[in-house]
Amino acid sequence: MTGLTRPTFAQICLANLQHNYLQAKQRSPNQVYAVIKADAYGHGMVQVAQGLTLADGFAVACVDEAMTLRANHITQPILVLEGAYGLDDWQLAAAHNLQMVVHHGEQLDWLDKSDFNSTGVVRVWLKINTGMNRVGIRPEQAKLMMARIQSHSNLMLSTLMTHHACSDEVDLSTAHTQLDRFYAIDSGLDSSSANSAAILAGLNQQDHISRAGIMLYGSSPFAHQTSVSLNLKPVMSLHSEVISLHQVKQGEAIGYGRRFIASQDMQVAVVAIGYGDGYPRHAPDGTPVLVNGQRCELAGKVSMDMITVDVSHCTQVSIGSPVELWGNQISVDEVATCSQTISYELFCRLTPRVPRCYEG
Ligand SMILES: *Cc1c(COP(=O)(O)O)cnc(C)c1O
Repeated sequence: MTGLTRPTFAQICLANLQHNYLQAKQRSPNQVYAVIKADAYGHGMVQVAQGLTLADGFAVACVDEAMTLRANHITQPILVLEGAYGLDDWQLAAAHNLQMVVHHGEQLDWLDKSDFNSTGVVRVWLKINTGMNRVGIRPEQAKLMMARIQSHSNLMLSTLMTHHACSDEVDLSTAHTQLDRFYAIDSGLDSSSANSAAILAGLNQQDHISRAGIMLYGSSPFAHQTSVSLNLKPVMSLHSEVISLHQVKQGEAIGYGRRFIASQDMQVAVVAIGYGDGYPRHAPDGTPVLVNGQRCELAGKVSMDMITVDVSHCTQVSIGSPVELWGNQISVDEVATCSQTISYELFCRLTPRVPRCYEG
């Protein structure tokens, strides 16, 4: 299937990606940009963009990512979320029709100090810091910055944006406070505030463009709601196979550091995946692993290339039996919770050793 002999691969279902994008569209009043930064959260940026021909636009972190999309003939609007890191980025943005976030005055200083005079006009989104306190202009400086951008003949200010710090929480009071500060700026511009959690929480009703990331990949941004309950479908399923089976006697230990001690005689399956593939090394004993369609538990520390699984209660397990680490049967969110992280990180940490296989 992969052209490689190791049975470990990530299957990427583009039909489910499209389904999830349409879920975002149905819950948004206007446009939805698909956030495909960091190699589309590990799913493969170009393939994901090609699978989302219906997307209103894309958002990436940096100009380098945007240039890769343009080099691969992606023609939809592309928003660069961190904007320019220097004058070169502005020049590339003008040449390749990229939309740029401005979150700091220095980004405009680079233009003022140069003879930047593009033939194309660069569309600009001004980012407002409404409480996240990471990047963005404070609301009281918004009018000044708007005027500064509007006075540039090579820039066209189109959109005011902000980013939520707490839209995934049960208590949405912080999110509402941020939105109150955002909408208090009377700009007459388009607005964009929502990430996936805000879209799914219905906080995007005034958005001209919402920005959907994690929900596109079929994972829930909420600790309190499952992806199934949100009608999202997993896009990635991570697969491997059993490569060894053996018996361990009661009292014997499995793996590095003797973390797992067998409480009774048991059968152990060894699976060809490890932290060298991005499977989380901190996954504790008991983390679910699907072996030949049956839910089993991780037993022993994750190695670089292998994990060990208790298959004592399983029927018909043999060398070559299929294993799902996460996907349709075991949700990535469940594995992330076990490892005290979030699906975003599990997706992004999948290493290049894992081939991505695409299906329609
Ligand atoms: C990454 C990112 C998003 C998408 O967030 P999700 O939680 O994955 O939906 C939206 N907006 C900005 C500014 C981002 O950096």
